[in-house]
Amino acid sequence: MRRGDSVVCLDDFSTGDPENIAPLLSHPGFAFQHADVSVSAEVAGRVDAVAHLASPASPPDYLRRPLETLRVGSRGTENALRLALRHDARFILASTSEIYGDPLVHPQEEAYWGNVNSIGPRSVYDEAKRYAEAVSAAYRRTHGLNVGIARIFNTYGPRMRPHDGRVVSSFITQALTGEPLTIYGDGKQTRSFCYVDDLVRGLLALLDSSEMGPFNLGNPVERTVTELAEAVLAMTGSPSEVKHHPLPVDDPVRRRPVITRAREVLGWEPEIDITEGLRRTVAYFAARPDRLGASAAAIRGDQDETVPLTAVTGAATATQTIPGPAAETTGATPATAGPSGSGG
Ligand code: UDP
Repeated sequence: MRRGDSVVCLDDFSTGDPENIAPLLSHPGFAFQHADVSVSAEVAGRVDAVAHLASPASPPDYLRRPLETLRVGSRGTENALRLALRHDARFILASTSEIYGDPLVHPQEEAYWGNVNSIGPRSVYDEAKRYAEAVSAAYRRTHGLNVGIARIFNTYGPRMRPHDGRVVSSFITQALTGEPLTIYGDGKQTRSFCYVDDLVRGLLALLDSSEMGPFNLGNPVERTVTELAEAVLAMTGSPSEVKHHPLPVDDPVRRRPVITRAREVLGWEPEIDITEGLRRTVAYFAARPDRLGASAAAIRGDQDETVPLTAVTGAATATQTIPGPAAETTGATPATAGPSGSGG
């Protein structure tokens, strides 16, 4: 909008927050439709581009909404593709590093096809996004639609919900409320954290091009989860301790994007390092102290809720290629009766 585009935003706020768009509502270039794109995506007037970012993205959110997550990646993506097709518009898909699953190749470049457990709890997100890539590519081949795919790696920043459940927002919320920082597993697993403004620049570069990609969009500086916890404690000066929890099922061991393609083709690379990004994010969270206490409690609640999922870790190891009937039964029960049974 700052560069003069008009924006129509469709959201059902299932995992969003109306507060984030409140400042835009009075802007003449902004319109909002309360809509679930899994049901329909209709926009009147001229549409030059469709950016399909609709989906739960935080593990507790998609574990709580397994069927909705599959639906928005499949039907939701096709509705968004049809919207673009009707308007002869550019279409970009927010795909994910989860395409690579628990990667056997490191760091990950776009040519890697991934290592995804198609029946594990995370599969509702991973396979929905893999299908979303497949149907987007098919619309390009079949209808000549101008499709581009971004594979977004871990992203953080202001406007995340404090109770989002992802690691950066959880650690900051916990540090600011004096709660223990909850490290899953031994904390040696790695992620590469991209600041939101960098990511948005990357998405706009993709939107403005006619490139299909896929493009990895992420910050190639890799950290362990323990290093992240230490950075948050140092930044906040918090007296919080660190507490270890079981590692969630199929939690990827390491993740780092190769961004050569985005650098060379889109002229994009991240500019904001983790120290500056954390500083800005901590400042945003610290300015909302009224929300933090309840959010810390909500994070604890989600962690309790996901215990049945972590308890089946042994039944779904990376080396298990042909699960027996017992493992299938053990794996299926918590995935359907666990978070989905008690969630929204
Ligand atoms: N994690 C953690 N403590 C938390 C939340 C997450 O140690 O309170 C770990 C999680 O197990 C994973 C990493 O941090 O290894 C990133 O998790 P997140 O949910 O942010 O994103 P993911 O990359 O798993 O989608």
